[in-house]
Amino acid sequence: MLAGHTMSLIADLWTLQEIDVALDAHRASLADAESRLDEPEALAAARAHADACASALHEARSAQRDLEREADDIRAKVGPLETKLYGGSIRNPKELAGLQADIDQLKRHISSIEDRDLEALAAVEAAESDARAAAAERDVLQAAWDAEREELAERIAGLRLEAAEEDGRRREQAALVSTDVLKMYDRLRAAHGGRALARLDRNLCTGCRISLPTNLVTRARGGGALVHCPNCERILVA
Ligand SMILES: [Zn+2]
Repeated sequence: MLAGHTMSLIADLWTLQEIDVALDAHRASLADAESRLDEPEALAAARAHADACASALHEARSAQRDLEREADDIRAKVGPLETKLYGGSIRNPKELAGLQADIDQLKRHISSIEDRDLEALAAVEAAESDARAAAAERDVLQAAWDAEREELAERIAGLRLEAAEEDGRRREQAALVSTDVLKMYDRLRAAHGGRALARLDRNLCTGCRISLPTNLVTRARGGGALVHCPNCERILVA
């Protein structure tokens, strides 16, 4: 093989490797961006919490309204009894005393419901405050996620475009190399962390940092043939 031919082959392979390394980095960034497209768990948790607070508030309000309705119903019964008591139509003292006792009992009942109503109102206020805080937290996380998702979508679109362009350049560059050499290149790349070629640093292989025999270094620098590192197998580039 002529030295000039080998040197241009190595240069083509080196360019191919640069494209492949960039393509690998782009694909990794793309995979990373795509993996972050799922809604964050914290947002789902905040939404569930806000929903739970909203239904707790709904229940607290409904319980409080039930108490008011119950008190109203009893008040509605007291009115007619008092009319009867003070109306003068009943004169029998025993009957009057009985009526008074009924009214007193109903009023005690109203009073106890009013106590519970105060507690229910306090519970409604607490539930309102919880629901407001939970909704605010959910909204903050949702807005942050909306912005992040938009940014991710733009980033993904950009990376896909760049990767497609690099794919095209890769195909063009790979077409410059014979099928057999390309197969060997791909095999070495797959076996050695994406890099089939390694530069020489004096007599060191920069792929595996091993010190190489002088005759091997001389042959690699001569450019008469492809020379592989005896340790990591990579094609040595002078
Ligand atoms: Zn090596």
